[in-house]
Amino acid sequence: MSETLLEVEQLRASYGKVQALHDINLKLERGSIATVIGPNGAGKSTLLNAIMGVLPAQGEIRYRGRAVDRYSLEQRVLEGIALVPERRELFSTMSVEDNLLLGGFRRLRLRQAQPLDQLATVFEMFPRLKERRRQLAGTLSGGERQMLAIGRALMAKPELLMLDEPSLGLAPRIVKEILQIVSELRSAGISVLLVEQNARAALQTADYGYVLELGKVTMQGESAQLAGDSQVIQAYLGFGKSPAPESAAA
Ligand code: ATP
Repeated sequence: MSETLLEVEQLRASYGKVQALHDINLKLERGSIATVIGPNGAGKSTLLNAIMGVLPAQGEIRYRGRAVDRYSLEQRVLEGIALVPERRELFSTMSVEDNLLLGGFRRLRLRQAQPLDQLATVFEMFPRLKERRRQLAGTLSGGERQMLAIGRALMAKPELLMLDEPSLGLAPRIVKEILQIVSELRSAGISVLLVEQNARAALQTADYGYVLELGKVTMQGESAQLAGDSQVIQAYLGFGKSPAPESAAA
């Protein structure tokens, strides 16, 4: 039977007088992937930052059945919540390995994880990072940088991993590879909250989906059901289903 890992109720967040999130309700079942799709500026990053505790918010956030909305960022990390931000925030003049070790250091200490054991686990998951362990992060390809950002978050052994637009700026083939990794994380027992503008790829990867528009959840459902919804197709999946001959020729 499924069990709820994360539950958000009536979550609100503002930037000054501008309300960015309006009473968001959302659930993530343990061992599953939920995605939040929506246009630019819908509030997707704000939602992840509010859950992580980077941004103040009102409402309730329950994680493993416990209210964590009053917890500091550090306490949330300690509980097993991790966020890979949209900007990836790597140390570009440091090696891949040092990024993993140093970037995760505080989190590691908080979670009392063993850095070298965890490094071996991350390298097992990302052989490409292992091959490039001495390479400077700033010289990695876009896909490798995203892998490093995910790997660094995994150094703290999270149970809930939140990913903010992991496909951003990546070629379709690399997006596929990154989302394959996200599916593997689920198989490894990590629950994932995936924010994406690439709705097609996100719905193919996730079990459940939410559509966020102007700071409100406007639709939700099993991913397959959302992917077949005419409104979602029209607004987010667009032409891709069967390209018109003229667009194919263009
Ligand atoms: P994108 O896909 O473009 O990253 P998003 O769905 O993640 O968009 P947010 O970045 O969460 O959207 O932004 C939600 C709203 O809050 C937008 O109107 C944005 O302009 C506003 N906003 C975001 N960050 C700030 C900030 N630091 N100060 C003021 N307004 C902000």
